[in-house]
Amino acid sequence: MKSARFLLVCSVIGTLTLLHSALAQTAAEEGKLQHFDPQQADRALDPCQDFYKFSCGKWFAANPIPADQVSWSTGSGLNIWNLNVSRETMQKAAGKADRSQVEQQVGDYWSACMDEKGIDAAGLRDLTPEMQRIDAIKDKAGLIDEVAHLHQTLPAAWAGDNNQTGAPMFGFGPSQDLDDASLVVLSVDQGGLALPSRDFYIQDDAKSVEIRNKYQAHLRKMFELSGQNKEESGRNAATVLAMETDLAKAQMDNITRRDPKKLNNKMSLEQLQALTPNINWKHYLELVHAPPTHHYLVSTPDFMKALNQALQDHPLEHWKTYLRWHLLHFSAPYLSAAFVDENWSFYSHTLIGAERIQPRWRRCVRAADRDLGEVLGQAYVAQAFPPENKQRVLDLVHNIEGALDQDIQSLGWMSSTSKSEAAKKLHSIEEKIGYPNSWRDYSSLKITSNSYLHNVHAATSFEFTRQLNKVGKPVDRAEWGMTPPTIDAYYDPQLNTINFPAGILQPPYFEQRQDDAVNYGGIGAVIGHEIIHGFDDQGRQFDPTGNLRDWWTPEDARAYDERGNCIANEYTQEIPEAGPEVKQNGRLTQGEDTADNGGLRLALMALELALKKEGKSLDEKGADGWTPRQRFFLSFGDIWCTEVRPEALRTQVLTNPHSFAKYRVNNTVANMPEFQQAFGCKKGAPMAHVNACRVW
Ligand SMILES: [Zn+2]
Repeated sequence: MKSARFLLVCSVIGTLTLLHSALAQTAAEEGKLQHFDPQQADRALDPCQDFYKFSCGKWFAANPIPADQVSWSTGSGLNIWNLNVSRETMQKAAGKADRSQVEQQVGDYWSACMDEKGIDAAGLRDLTPEMQRIDAIKDKAGLIDEVAHLHQTLPAAWAGDNNQTGAPMFGFGPSQDLDDASLVVLSVDQGGLALPSRDFYIQDDAKSVEIRNKYQAHLRKMFELSGQNKEESGRNAATVLAMETDLAKAQMDNITRRDPKKLNNKMSLEQLQALTPNINWKHYLELVHAPPTHHYLVSTPDFMKALNQALQDHPLEHWKTYLRWHLLHFSAPYLSAAFVDENWSFYSHTLIGAERIQPRWRRCVRAADRDLGEVLGQAYVAQAFPPENKQRVLDLVHNIEGALDQDIQSLGWMSSTSKSEAAKKLHSIEEKIGYPNSWRDYSSLKITSNSYLHNVHAATSFEFTRQLNKVGKPVDRAEWGMTPPTIDAYYDPQLNTINFPAGILQPPYFEQRQDDAVNYGGIGAVIGHEIIHGFDDQGRQFDPTGNLRDWWTPEDARAYDERGNCIANEYTQEIPEAGPEVKQNGRLTQGEDTADNGGLRLALMALELALKKEGKSLDEKGADGWTPRQRFFLSFGDIWCTEVRPEALRTQVLTNPHSFAKYRVNNTVANMPEFQQAFGCKKGAPMAHVNACRVW
């Protein structure tokens, strides 16, 4: 189980870009950083009515979503700024005469990607040999050879990513064992879809039907681009949709998947083979060079059973068509303009509402961040994250951990037994700030200036091998799951670590020159959020060493669930911004919502303690007319100002465990008496819930 399911922040951008491999753009090519501005709040409005509007309304009016964006937030300028830092690194390396190996890799990756003319002129040159492999498959046994090849070469398809739609047929990769986190074993997971989740295949409201019709048209066009005639393409499009729908029906839904116990199915190779007799596992494992494993973690046995059945039911020709589609799908961004445009038109326009494609250079930097992330990350850190920033962030982290220590001791609903276990877990959390202590070695990865597609295949294969090499070895606790320029953060329950890449330790989230109130309301809320993930409905099931072990007394677990249910019910609500009849399921977002609520409270507690040390209080008015308590909440509102196109928001609500920014702000503050105190809100006002929820 990778940390990918536990990620936070800027999720709208982070998650949606995975769908279409395109990126953010603004009118300002360089990226404008957003700094905290106490004048941004709209004092003409009542903060107790709609705090999100009070914080963000003026900013929205001045910052409409650019045409090539699906969302636009106060963090979007930083996104462009971060990309520009990496662009400069790549351009410099491309133009240099006497180059180190790393400069050669970075420079040639850039040259190959930016050479649109060359890629267009090459047409199907690089794709054809891949298509011929599939044409040559003679029997169903041969399918597994090709699946092994595709798993090793198609980006975003490699299995350890643990996305639900993922790799062709099934997902495959390393995973820490759930019962013994010191063991790295091989894991097999559901996969095989190209729409964002199973819901897209099985829901039958008008919008879902419309999207499926457009998906089928997209499949047809992609087959046509690969050289098939109209009649063939139409038939094949229908075949793929039918096959993926079969697989989708068998997938475990994303709410059930939130319970790690449901994913904890250990099997021997013999048991896995008996579960899926139509997949020759010994052969597959040889082809991908899988190391010996203590056992297999088969997350979703029912899905694997259904896949096995589908292998029997569908004729060989259907499966070849299915594999051709997945090859085309995961190759499209690296091929000629016709493929790029068609891929964009469905995945970025239809699914998430973008009106124009991102400029080429941003797409190239994004791909390079995925493929050569820690090389570009070194240059980013050198330019954007000095040691004194790291120290200040570390101080914030320690103070917020201290606040949770106090919070745990003061909770009325928890017994002293569970309290001491919780404190033990808190004290074993390891903090990772900015960047890894040692950098990944890419020297065996061969990058050339000849073919963008080949470079992406080589990088995917390099990463696949690196991942599998973890199996059977001691867990690498120092490894990072995100690259340094990433604007995001995560908690990893199996390592019990919190991780904050340098990319998010920038304005508007963190700024060295800002006072504590602003930084605690910004990055402090993010830090608190990640720490609370260790204690949300999912994280609380893991112990200090990362093992899935119940350390709760039954009464405390019951008391926890009662409080967790309050949150889940509160966030189960209509999302009118996403279109008619779109409803958020609070069971999907419960962990993130719990983290938002607990995290903000911890950050405020830590701010109060920090001010006290300097002899200051939360409620002394400053020169700008706001108190530190008010500035704290204003900063929190600021970092979440986010506009999202309705198409993208609908996709987010169906697939993303994070609530929409507006509710991350409003529901959270409405649960806090500390907020009502800050702005004098009367009980029963929209931002002062009568039945406020609180877990931590
Ligand atoms: Zn989170």
